[in-house]
Parts: sequence; C-alpha cells; structure tokens
Amino acid sequence: MRVCVIGTGYVGLVTGACLAHIGHDVICVDNNEEKVKIMKAGQSPIFEPGLSEIMQSAIQTGKIEFSTDLAAGVAHGEILFIAVGTPPLPTGESDTRYVEAVARGIGANLNGGYKVIVNKSTVPIGSGDWVRMIVLDGIAERQKNLVTAGGGVIEDKLPELPQFDVVSNPEFLREGSAVYDTFNPDRIVLGGNSPRAIAMMQELYAPIVERKFAENQSLHPVPILATDLSSAEMIKYAANAFLATKISFINEVANICDRVGADVTQVAKGIGLDSRIGNKFLQAGIGWGGSCFPKDVAALIHTADDYGYEAQLLKSAVSVNERQRLIALEKLQQVLKILKGKTVGLLGLTFKPDTDDLRDAPALNLIEQLNRLGAKVKAYDPIVSQTGMRHGLSGVLVETDAERLADGCDALVLVTEWQQFSSLDYAKMAQLMSNPVIIDGRNFLDPETLVRAGFQYVGVGR
Ligand code: NAD
Repeated sequence: MRVCVIGTGYVGLVTGACLAHIGHDVICVDNNEEKVKIMKAGQSPIFEPGLSEIMQSAIQTGKIEFSTDLAAGVAHGEILFIAVGTPPLPTGESDTRYVEAVARGIGANLNGGYKVIVNKSTVPIGSGDWVRMIVLDGIAERQKNLVTAGGGVIEDKLPELPQFDVVSNPEFLREGSAVYDTFNPDRIVLGGNSPRAIAMMQELYAPIVERKFAENQSLHPVPILATDLSSAEMIKYAANAFLATKISFINEVANICDRVGADVTQVAKGIGLDSRIGNKFLQAGIGWGGSCFPKDVAALIHTADDYGYEAQLLKSAVSVNERQRLIALEKLQQVLKILKGKTVGLLGLTFKPDTDDLRDAPALNLIEQLNRLGAKVKAYDPIVSQTGMRHGLSGVLVETDAERLADGCDALVLVTEWQQFSSLDYAKMAQLMSNPVIIDGRNFLDPETLVRAGFQYVGVGR
C-alpha cells in the first residue's frame, strides 16, 4: 500500500521504516530539513536498536523515501499517518498545534482518491472528529484560493470534494525496543466509524497481525481491537496512566519497606507471581519520566478536569512520582549530610536504557537539585557520552567512561539501568572515588557484589 508518515520522530520514523520493511511504499515527511538530510543519507537521527538497519535496507529496495514536501507525501499516500509530537503545555493539557498544522496541510493538499488519515500521535479524546474538522477547513481554504486565483471560477468547476476518513491508531511502542515492539505488538487498536477505513488499516497491518516479521511466528495472530474513535484515544491514555500508577504504587511500597526493613525487590517478586498482578512495572526506583508517561497522565487529568471530574488516583500517582524523583537526593543527604562542595557522579542520564531520549528524564531533576545545593555533578551515559548529545543538559560535566566518572566522586547514583552498568569494574571505581558510596536508583545492581568491591550500597526500599 502507499503510505505517507508525517513526523519522523521516535514513532513516525519507526512506523515508516517498519511499514517499508514489510513491503509498503512509504514516504516519510518531516519539516525539519536537517533531519530529512540525515535520513536521506541512510542514517537515523535517533538512537533506536535495529532502526538504521531496516532504514538502510528499505532505502536500497526503494520502499522508503524522505522528504520535506507535504504535498508530495499527501499525493502519494492512500494512508496518511499523523505522527508529530504532542508535548505538554504548562497546564498539563496536550499541545496539539503540530497535529493541527499537519491536518490543515493535509486538507490543503488532499486530492485524488479516497484516503485514510490516521492519528498515530497521542491526542486528546475527541481529536479524531477535530482532525476531520481541520482537514475540512484546509480543503475549504484551498477551494477558496482556487476560486480567487481563477478570478471567479464557478463552483461546479472546482475539483470534487476529496473523500477521506479519520482513524485513531494509538501507538504503544517503547523507546529502546521500538522496532521489536512494532513487529511484535500485544495488540493493534483501530478506532473509527468507517468500515472502509478500518478494512484498509487491517490490510496495511496484515503481515504484522499474521506475525510474518515476529520473533515468534507460531504465536496466535496479533489481536486487533476495533473501537469507536474516542475509546481508541482513551485506550492510549488509560494504558499509560495505568503503567505509571503501577510504578508509583511499587515506589510507595518501597518507601514503606525502607522504614520497616522489608526488601521491595522480594515483595515485588511475591506479588508479581500473582497472575492478577503480573510482574511487569514493579521495579521500585527513582520514578517515571520520559516523553510519554508524565505528559499523558497530566493530559488525562486535564481532560477529566475539563469534564468536571477530579482524577484523584492519577493526581496521587503524579505526586508520589514527583517525590520519588528526588529520593536519590534524600538518600545522598542521609549518607553524605552536607552536599555543598561534594561531587556526585550519575551513572546514566536517559530516562531509560537503550534510548538517547532525555525528555523529562529524572536525571534532569537530580542535576538541578544537586546544583542548587552546591554539589558538583558529573555523569556518564553510554549513549549521551558517546554521541556528544548535550540537548537540554546544563550543570553537569559529561564524562567519556565510568572510571573517569568515578574519579574524585563522593558518591555515585545509578540513574538509568543500562545493561553495561552491571559489569563495570566497580572495585577499580571504588578506589578512584573520594568516598565509595553508591545509591542504586533502580535497584539494578547486586548489593553484595558492590559491598565486596568496597562500596557502601544504598538501594530503594531494600
Ligand atoms: P518526536 O518529537 O520524536 O517527533 C516528532 C516529529 O514531528 C519531529 O521530527 C518533528 O520535526 C516533526 N514535525 C513537527 N511538526 C511537523 C510538521 N508540521 N510537519 C512535519 N513534521 C513535523 O515525537 P515522538 O516521540 O515520535 O512522538 C510522536 C507522538 O507519538 C506523540 O504524540 C507521542 O505522545 C506519541 N507516542 C510517543 C511514543 C514514544 O515512545 N516516543 C510512544 C507512543 C506514542
């Protein structure tokens, strides 16, 4: 099928490359010229395991193209994905201006046969109908311009009104395993009221549904859940709000464990074995962050407020998280007492491993607070240190390896559970430090190994 993906960030680029990989003809459009130049050269502007490889093979087979030309993309695609960002406004509300710009642009360029416009971005409930309205506005503006340009062309000479439907197809991929998740989804949600549009989406995803590109091809087909527009939009928010709440829950339990002397890692194992609870998202630590959970929970709270409902549980999940994001600071103060004049080294900066994404990462809060209290902050992150990406980073010296990081530090904080942090030479690092203390902000390391290496080990709720 002919596909156009507008917005080539973590979601759009992965979606475009994966759809090209399974045989569709894809044009990826972005208004960031620099990004498009990089992608045209076969490189991924983001770090995502496996992405460059499938991009390059799709470029070679001619299945994918990159462009800044929205009109060309719209003309090409029978399915048009909107995958631009929806960052939070200070009120918590989702900023939909990029979606609006794209929807208007689609309307202004829509022609040819029937098209499906897909909301892949996470958008507030009701956005499906709103996007339809904006696209119609875009079409009307174009028609008006045609009349004006034609110096009074009569209405019936205007091109026929383009036919289209809007579908909500929320994305559940995780940064760090986005390509894997696209080929191995737990479900595909399709919201809309047009059987024709839903049928086209089913055709688009058929190879994924049939698990032709899955790691385990013998599994049952991927479930497709067809819903109305609003329910599909709500599923995305509810899923993220649930996961964020689950983490806040275990963090609350961890804080109680800390006080009563229980070990939250064992508690999590004990409750996670209950199939009603499940063992995922029960790792206590320094709280959730990233580009999705904080903004999506805030947006759902805001929507509830708009409709006269106070989402108390969600508000609590947020406030538990805000406190939790500073738990490492509290622990540093307990161990080091005065932080002024001390040097603290952060192991990891990104909000989770295997990504270069620093948006709303807990490390950023920690850096800010440590600076405020007069501590010097250094950091080592396998990707940020390597790529030299300093986006949004100030008040921190980024080191090139873990031993340089340890050198002269009064304490280390493990912020991100990068796999390589499990096998660092901690004995050597302890020797290089002024004071070998480690706060394991993700309960990721083995306390005994660290103690043997010469560290004072402090976990979260253990
Ligand atoms: P991103 O910021 O990485 O990428 C957005 C891209 O859109 C950028 O490349 C930007 O240049 C481009 N863009 C903005 N305006 C444009 C325009 N008018 N025309 C063309 N391109 C334009 O965003 P993301 O992380 O990929 O998220 C996209 C959406 O998907 C958001 O709504 C997000 O909530 C949702 N989502 C993200 C994830 C995730 O893990 N990142 C997961 C699920 C859903």
